[in-house]
Amino acid sequence: RFIAFEGGEGTGKSTQAHMLADALGRRGIDAVLTREPGGTPGAEAIRSLLLEPPGEGWGAPAEALLFAAARADHVTRMIGPALEQGQWVVCDRFVDSSRAYQGGAGGVGDEAVRTLHAIGSGGLRPDLTLLIEVPPEVAAERLSRRDAGRTDAIGGRDADYHAKVAQSFRTFADDDSAAFWTVDGNAPAEQVHARVLDALAPFLDE
Ligand code: C5P
Repeated sequence: RFIAFEGGEGTGKSTQAHMLADALGRRGIDAVLTREPGGTPGAEAIRSLLLEPPGEGWGAPAEALLFAAARADHVTRMIGPALEQGQWVVCDRFVDSSRAYQGGAGGVGDEAVRTLHAIGSGGLRPDLTLLIEVPPEVAAERLSRRDAGRTDAIGGRDADYHAKVAQSFRTFADDDSAAFWTVDGNAPAEQVHARVLDALAPFLDE
């Protein structure tokens, strides 16, 4: 099974991805936890390039290409083989982040991002995507605690950009309700985790 967590920054999706991977392990399910951009040495190197651009920043089209390249490596070398061996893969962000950030907020467009994903990663889709949502002011408050002093290029985006990201995610979930489960992330982590486990019940009962 391939489970992805999506959402903007400060939604708590990384915490939830960790908690789910631990919970699956306690149930005797062989699960690997990974993240994007990253997950393999090549993709982690691209992550560093993305977060700390050597020049003045990439611009959305170049970002889209770099994310797609990182994902191609991650899918080919790690996610694909793990799924083939029957492991569960829990991934913190996947292609819908590229669709929301570069495609929607960055203006590259959904079709172009999907095409890059088809070329690089065979169009692989998660079995279920958990979209964690919190009100923008809650996300901003969490980030001001976590990211105080953050200076990387991607950290400098404005509220308008993040609103577009959140709106894009919402549209994807509305358009494909079979593939997405939206989780209200504005609650203590344990409570959000319980909501995540509810969403996965059909898979866990198999
Ligand atoms: O998930 P995480 O917060 O570690 O992501 C790292 C950074 O990469 C974030 O600041 C996020 O905004 C950015 N990102 C992006 N486009 C994506 C995925 C992540 O700009 N497709």
